Amino acid sequence: MLCVFSKTIQIFTPAVVRQSRCIASLSSLPETYQMLYKTCRDFAESELKPNAAKYDRDHLFPGDAIKKMGELGLMAIAVPEELGGTGLDYLAYAIALEEISRGCASAGVIMSVNNSLYLGPVTHWGTDKQKQEYVTPFCTGDPIGCFALSEPGNGSDAGAASTTAKDGGDKWIINGTKCWITNGYESKAAVVFATTDKSMKHKGISAFIVPKPIKGLELGKKEDKLGIRASSTCSLMYEDCEIPKENILGEPGAGFKIAMMTLDAGRIGIASQALGIAQASLDVAAEYASKRMAFGKPIMKLQTIQNKLAEMALQLESARLLTWRAAYLKDNKKPYTKEAAMAKLAASEAATFTAHQCIQILGGMGYVSDMPAERHYRDARITEIYEGTSEIQKLVIFGQLVKEYGLN
Ligand SMILES: Cc1cc2nc3c(=O)[nH]c(=O)nc-3n(C[C@H](O)[C@H](O)[C@H](O)COP(=O)(O)OP(=O)(O)OC[C@H]3O[C@@H](n4cnc5c(N)ncnc54)[C@H](O)[C@@H]3O)c2cc1C
Repeated sequence: MLCVFSKTIQIFTPAVVRQSRCIASLSSLPETYQMLYKTCRDFAESELKPNAAKYDRDHLFPGDAIKKMGELGLMAIAVPEELGGTGLDYLAYAIALEEISRGCASAGVIMSVNNSLYLGPVTHWGTDKQKQEYVTPFCTGDPIGCFALSEPGNGSDAGAASTTAKDGGDKWIINGTKCWITNGYESKAAVVFATTDKSMKHKGISAFIVPKPIKGLELGKKEDKLGIRASSTCSLMYEDCEIPKENILGEPGAGFKIAMMTLDAGRIGIASQALGIAQASLDVAAEYASKRMAFGKPIMKLQTIQNKLAEMALQLESARLLTWRAAYLKDNKKPYTKEAAMAKLAASEAATFTAHQCIQILGGMGYVSDMPAERHYRDARITEIYEGTSEIQKLVIFGQLVKEYGLN
């Protein structure tokens, strides 16, 4: 794999990077992060941004772009180098994912699911054999993986999983339907959560690595979504699907814990995706406001528009600091459940707010697909829903406050 950001080998050929915006606080970070930022930004400008509208309009999975992202080391940023990953950390991941999502939010979620929801748990809980088979090949951008927790009957209430995995001697037999699965069409393996002991409720859930395609698995229709339309979302329907006994991930009954810990990390990814959408919206709005004339002057001379741009920048940068703080805590092996939930909540609300204001600043031009504002608005909305809705983030934050204050 051509990986330009490994900790040890830093082979980087600077490409032409437009300097219209830069994240001020980046300059105080080590050079590796700055180089990563520049490469992702350049890649997003040249390969993603010009194609994002077409990907969205035609529901086109950006396979070539994802493979190139794999070559750049972006599909396995925090996976150790000895397993084929880039060997960087979550701060690097947050910076890279924001830039990729700024170019194309669909590419952002495809990258996020592969990095944190698929490779994250398999790298952390997998056996050596599982890592060899299900981590290393998945660091390249082709194949990619997916994460199957949600079901038709339970999304937020993930502990109520009704998919079952029956002990069949030398195999597990999986029955049930997982829904809303990102990368569901293209992925070649899934981390699937299924109950091995219903009487234990959420403590009876286990995690499994299930290859795709496989006998006993049918895919549902590709969902026709409001946004992130270039990523596939579908149901995975398992009927007497047999997998080897060794494909359990972690201990039997550890599945719920694996899912929750995976989602803690995943929320840093979705927060970063939301930051990318928010930044793209601010970029469009600022440029338009500087050119659009009304009442004899550019609309950016109007205080109302200035206030909007200032509020957009405030929400975006506050959320970025929360996101980087959560990543920093994770990288330093400190608790970060509350901080990741705060980051995801703040960044997703910033994305929705910023995309909304962007349309307002563009007026009629914000409402048509000639400009990217309406796509940013549609893409932003999902960040308040997946990997835990905003309501669930507040429950998570409050749950941590209960512990901190010793509340009953
Ligand atoms: C495009 C897309 C991609 C997705 N990708 C994946 C994926 O790759 N893998 C995967 O496993 N899942 C995925 N999901 C599923 C996603 O995580 C769930 O949709 C989400 O967790 C919400 O679950 P739900 O849709 O069942 O809503 P519900 O849980 O039914 O919630 C409905 C409403 O009730 C609220 N609510 C529920 N419980 C509470 C509570 N206790 N307190 C307050 N409010 C509450 C919710 O906040 C929401 O407003 C995806 C979903 C979408 C739309």
